[in-house]
Amino acid sequence: MDKVLLIYDEDINYNLGQKHPMNPVRIKLTYSLIKALGLMEKPEVIKKQAPSATDEELKEVHSESYIKAVKEAAKGKNNWYFGLGTGDNPIFPEIHESSAKIAGASLLAARMLVENKVVHAFNPWGGLHHALSSRASGFCIYNDVAIAISYLLKKNRRVAYVDIDAHHGDGVQWIFYKNSRVLTISIHESGYYLFPGTGFEKEKGDEEGTGYSVNVPLDPEATEADYLLAIKSLVKPLIEAFKPDILVTQNGCDSLERDPLAHLKVSLPGYFEIVKELHKIAHEFTNGRILALGGGGYDVYYSVPIAWSSLFANLCHFELPQLIPDSYSKVLKKYLNMNGPFPFFGNQPLKKEALPSTKKIIERLKESFFNG
Ligand SMILES: [Zn+2]
Ligand SMILES: [Zn+2]
Repeated sequence: MDKVLLIYDEDINYNLGQKHPMNPVRIKLTYSLIKALGLMEKPEVIKKQAPSATDEELKEVHSESYIKAVKEAAKGKNNWYFGLGTGDNPIFPEIHESSAKIAGASLLAARMLVENKVVHAFNPWGGLHHALSSRASGFCIYNDVAIAISYLLKKNRRVAYVDIDAHHGDGVQWIFYKNSRVLTISIHESGYYLFPGTGFEKEKGDEEGTGYSVNVPLDPEATEADYLLAIKSLVKPLIEAFKPDILVTQNGCDSLERDPLAHLKVSLPGYFEIVKELHKIAHEFTNGRILALGGGGYDVYYSVPIAWSSLFANLCHFELPQLIPDSYSKVLKKYLNMNGPFPFFGNQPLKKEALPSTKKIIERLKESFFNG
């Protein structure tokens, strides 16, 4: 039986403050719903706490001076030069410790995949894709994604990275921009409308890495139809051609229509189709090896727990029930004052038609990557 790893650690204090949109309650509620679904009792599920990444492990991606600044930030020292102490990236006492744990968790998941202890792994705390080697950015302190990918490269694995967060996966892209052994693909709301203002078609890698960075910028209001078209007609053939050993995914769910930060309109059943498609790609091209990470997602009480528990259920090849389990319905009633019964996804049909702008971009990218 294929084993599936879940990083299950409720105590990571990655808390950027009461008014900050990235409220860690979203992970706690994700765990509650995963438990309510009975997934923790499945014999193939292995759960692990998050170990801290060591300084040596962090240094694979981050500069020594930046790590030092993060540790000083834990003691209350802002450092604008490194992006520490801004509205997006406020400092807090556990800033180093909690970020090192998130990185350590993604690293542990990568290691267990390399050692064949598991076939699929999910770290919902992970996916901090904006952090740069010497700069905190977009709510991200240490780039757990890049740290895990660096480890995989050291183990001679070819890595395909697919980022479905509403924001461009800039940190991961820039860290591996000149590397031909990592294919980075990001599908996101266009930088014309949304942070971080990058991720345009023309960003295709540099030097040896030319042709190994792919960006699909979407106009506001794009839906699952746009994501699914990009995945089926572009991502899949690119991955087939690249022949990776492992697929790393960043599963930010701030593309969902209820999300307060981005302007995309992906529905919950649409999001489920997208993550199912990525899971299928892993079975088709990487022998099932997939390291799934969290990411953005700011409708913390409703969309995030449903999106990410559905993702994990799918990695466990578990059929979702029609309704949200009773034990979790209480949570929705408490936080949102909503009344059940709650269908898992509701009855919205999937959106089928991608935006004309998306179709054009995908055609141009196909032309450039396959015939260029
Ligand atoms: Zn995001
Ligand atoms: Zn599977």
